[in-house]
Amino acid sequence: MYGLRHGGERRRESRDGARPVKLAIVGGGAAGMFAAAIATERRMPCIIIERKARLGSKVLMTANGRCNFTKDIAAEKFLADVGPAADFAADAVRECPPRQIISFFRSLGVPLRRMADGRMFPADGKAATIVHAFGDLFREREVPILTNCPAKGIERVRPGEGRGRFLVRTASFDIAAENVLLATGGVSYPKTGSVGDGQNFAKTLGHSIVPYRPGLIGLETGDPRVTRLAGRRFEEDGRTKVLAEDGRVLFEYRGEVDCERFGVSGAAVYNAQRFIEHHRRQNRLEHGETPEKLSVEVWFGRDRIRLENPKPRPVKEAIVTIGGVSLDGINPRTMESKSCPGLYFAGEVMDMDGPTGGYNLTLAFSTAAKAVHSIG
Ligand SMILES: Cc1cc2nc3c(=O)[nH]c(=O)nc-3n(C[C@H](O)[C@H](O)[C@H](O)COP(=O)(O)OP(=O)(O)OC[C@H]3O[C@@H](n4cnc5c(N)ncnc54)[C@H](O)[C@@H]3O)c2cc1C
Repeated sequence: MYGLRHGGERRRESRDGARPVKLAIVGGGAAGMFAAAIATERRMPCIIIERKARLGSKVLMTANGRCNFTKDIAAEKFLADVGPAADFAADAVRECPPRQIISFFRSLGVPLRRMADGRMFPADGKAATIVHAFGDLFREREVPILTNCPAKGIERVRPGEGRGRFLVRTASFDIAAENVLLATGGVSYPKTGSVGDGQNFAKTLGHSIVPYRPGLIGLETGDPRVTRLAGRRFEEDGRTKVLAEDGRVLFEYRGEVDCERFGVSGAAVYNAQRFIEHHRRQNRLEHGETPEKLSVEVWFGRDRIRLENPKPRPVKEAIVTIGGVSLDGINPRTMESKSCPGLYFAGEVMDMDGPTGGYNLTLAFSTAAKAVHSIG
């Protein structure tokens, strides 16, 4: 296998000059799988290194196991919806827009279903169909995949030794690579393998990390109007509004509201919660630490509640992580580190997130494609 080296053989192999792999992809989730597909399409030798026993554990959970993998809208509309990361993601999304992601899955033979609002799913409503399609492609193209194999560190090596620019360390051997793509995801649902390793590796290599916050998550309330309806879903008549202290409406969203034992969830709540997180961050940047009082109004059926300074559920339960590797240190035209040549980023490991509706998987796919194109 390319540049694979067992710990005890270090001296001998550096003299022998084991052939480094062109691209080591750390993380076999949405971004990592897409990166490997694009790389092999271009005949770029690559290897996937994945912590869990199988690829795409989080993808399997998406949209309640149905996988809303993109939204069939133009790149410009997509970017207008994305929010704060839009400027950073613009080049990547324009180069690999939703239309191209749809064509990609069609080319793998996955029958697709388009909802009236443009959200795209596999036609059988099974996220596993998407993950299996990647698996079939990797088998056909003989992509080397190391599962059950968490990367333990990424080390830069001195140039000129014929070993590539990096060593990806695992528990029992190292992998020499010319380029490394960090596609290790955010920190939510850690049982899917995304635990913040990529952010730690990036920090060691000189990147700064924006503190984590939950994105697209439910809000807590003990209000009996909610708790007595726990388990009820309001698809048609759900709505949220985020209000400033002076009553100004800052954000409004019509969509699903679900009543839970802990409080409220569903797309309308998730997008309001995400808006609040970004609004607070922006406010902190502009006005310092003064806490701003915001409230959310939530409509479900004939009821309406108002939550003052609403409390989100913890980040480990969030759909997406807000925060991660700071975008300041990454070139948006290439996804390459500004300070560490050959180190690339894709997906949620970066401080980049979108609303519900296929935006986050699209961001993972488009940034992965951008990184691979830049390497190629
Ligand atoms: C419940 C839920 C539902 C969602 N539904 C949708 C949806 O319908 N549509 C949508 O667009 N988005 C959805 N998302 C968000 C979307 O799944 C993520 O944004 C997306 O998976 C991020 O892709 P990624 O490749 O960056 O990270 P991930 O898909 O999380 O992949 C990261 C991979 O890296 C691996 N890894 C981590 N550390 C290491 C290491 N040290 N060594 C090796 N491997 C490592 C992990 O095991 C994991 O497989 C949902 C998320 C959740 C939690």
